[in-house]
Order: sequence, then structure tokens, then C-alpha cells
Amino acid sequence: MQANQIDRRSWFKTMLGPAALAMFNAQRTDAAAIGPNDKLKVSKLETFVLKSSWVFVKISTDAGIVGWGEMLKDDAKACAAGALEVANYLVGQDPRMVAHHWQAIHRGAFYRGGPIKTAIQSGIDQALWDITGKAYGVPVYKLMGGPTRQQIRVYGQVDAKTGVNAIKVGPRGTRTPFKHNEGQKMVDEVAERFKALRDKYGSGVDIGIDFHGAVQPTTALSLMKALEPYRPWFFEEIVQALNVDVMADLAQKTHIPLATGERIFLKWGFREILEKRAAMILQPDVCYAGGITELRLIAGMAESYFAPLAPHNPNGPCSLAASLQVAASIPNFLIQERGDAEHDLLAKPLPAVRNGHRPIPTEPGLGITIDENKLRAQVGEPRPYLTQYDPEDGSVVDW
Ligand SMILES: [Mg+2]
Repeated sequence: MQANQIDRRSWFKTMLGPAALAMFNAQRTDAAAIGPNDKLKVSKLETFVLKSSWVFVKISTDAGIVGWGEMLKDDAKACAAGALEVANYLVGQDPRMVAHHWQAIHRGAFYRGGPIKTAIQSGIDQALWDITGKAYGVPVYKLMGGPTRQQIRVYGQVDAKTGVNAIKVGPRGTRTPFKHNEGQKMVDEVAERFKALRDKYGSGVDIGIDFHGAVQPTTALSLMKALEPYRPWFFEEIVQALNVDVMADLAQKTHIPLATGERIFLKWGFREILEKRAAMILQPDVCYAGGITELRLIAGMAESYFAPLAPHNPNGPCSLAASLQVAASIPNFLIQERGDAEHDLLAKPLPAVRNGHRPIPTEPGLGITIDENKLRAQVGEPRPYLTQYDPEDGSVVDW
């Protein structure tokens, strides 16, 4: 218990008696770890690379409050090393100045952006919001004017128990690499497979299809046309996002909305997507695109184009929890990827998915408690992401 709480309680007890104290206690529902104006400083920054390739950053403070965040799993070791360098700036600072630290970490560097630096910034931003929410005793969305909704729609596995009725599939159902340019046989097979899914589920299940940037533009257009009759929910990453004009050209050729964002970074990356009308569903990743701070701003930019967010999430519990905080803070939220995932790194599970929706977390900060013993038990050499080759001629292909 903090000094100011003791003082207030003593005052109530002395001046108004035990009944008033009981009322005072009943009104307090927060779990603030310190007073709102108490001093708080970052004391330590640590990183953990897991065998799954998930990479975590833990920020400690002199008041004992800790915050957790996640970074880019494809470059886990680089992110872990880079985040430690940010400690030179962050240790000794008040962690609650989250927006200021975002600016300092981003604009303090001469070379900015890119997947690794932005992922480092993203994980640190999540951890700082986690600390700030815990310091004030509220979930992050309450610091952002939320909640903006009562529950959060998720997609993952269609399941009668959870009520999830939205899924995403790959063209083939496996990650078998495509050839550089595929022919009609592949297009027919993909369309047949998707048709079977549509026949199975009817129109009651939303089915997105993720090309994973693994097909070339000419093949992508053939696929889009072949799939249109079966009413995909969206086409995701129809081509690599490195040339946004190509995606924008293809977007003009279909009535199915394009989705992209997991390989787009910062507000400047999403600015181009929006301005060129390259996609109508944005999928920024809270671990890659700049953290909670940046996703909220990207959502604001998207709102001006009437475009919703469906945050990307192939990661662990901080990724999901931070995404849920964003979902509860913005008006233009569509659905959360892998929002139905359960995570064994938590001290207590998230509230269960019902009717296809995850309840909004109510606990302070990100709303989760990482079980550090469980997390440390999974530390190890991260799973590698290997180059993919054309199965027939051995050339390097996208995957
Ligand atoms: Mg994807």
C-alpha cells in the first residue's frame, strides 16, 4: 500500500468514521501500483528469445512494476540485441511518457524505420504502455478514451464452442512454394479448394484468403478472378508489398477488398497504401509496425479512408493482448487475427472467446500477466526461417 492511500484512509477514518471508510473502500476498484503523481523510473531492460522464435522485451522500474512487449520473430536475435541498446536511452526515464519516448527512439536515430528497428520500437512501446496502465491501475484502452466496443471479434478456427465464424486460408492449404509463374492448373486447383470450403460453410462463415506475397502479379490476377465467384472475404498480400503501385493496379480490377499490412511499417508505410488505394483492410502488426502508439495513429489515418483494421498476429500473448487494447481504443476495428489463440505463457488465461468474440480484458496495462518461469523455460535457439526454392528448377521463390 502506498503512502498517499494510507493518508487518505486515515483521514476518512478520523474525520468520518468506519462507515465512511467502508464506502471509500467500496468505491475503489483500481489496482494502481503507485500514486498517479509518484515518481517512477525505468531501471532495467531485458530480452528473451524463445525456441518458437517469439522474442520478448521486459522493462523493469524502480517501483517494481514491470512491462512486457514482443518484437519481430523472423529476426528475433537482432531484435533482442537492438532492444538492449535502447536501454542506454530509456533507463532512468519516466516510462509513462510513452508518446515522447516513441518520438525520441524513432527520431533520435539518423537511420529510421525498417522491420528490425520498427519492431524493437514496437516491443518497447508495448512494454511502456503495460507499465503505464499498471501504474495508473487501468487497462491501456482506458488511457486512450476507450473502450470503443463491448467485445472484440476474432478469427482463427471455426468452432461451435467459441462461436468463431471467420477463418483465413492459404491458396493451397500448405506452405509448399509456388513456382515463379504458375499456370492454369494451379489456378484451377486453388479455386476448386476454395469452392469446397464455401460449399462446406455456406455464407455464414467469412473466409479470407492469404496469397502471402508468394505469387507473381500475373498469377495473382488469374487467381483473383477465379476465386471471385466464391466470395472470399478479402484477398491478403496478393503480391509483395514492395511496389505498392502494382498492388493498387490489381485492387482496381476486383470488387473483393484487398488486405495488407503485416510487412508495412510505421504511419509512412500505411500512408502510401491508403493514398494509392492499394488495400481497404489494413493489417498492421502491433509487434512490427510501431506498437500500440503507432497502430492507433494508423487507425486514424485509415478512418479518413473508411478503411478498417484487422491487426496481424502470428505471435505470442503480448502481441494478442496489445492488439486487443488497440481494438478497444479505435472506432474502425474489423477483426483480430488469431484472437482465439490460448497462450501457455500466461499466469492466468485471457477471458474465453464466446460467440466469436473475445471479452475486453479488464486488468491493468496490457491486461495479462506473463509467467516468467514458464517463459524462461522456453528460451533457446529460435526456429529458423529458411529460404524456399522452386521444387523443379531450384530457383529462389517467394513464400
Ligand atoms: Mg498474412
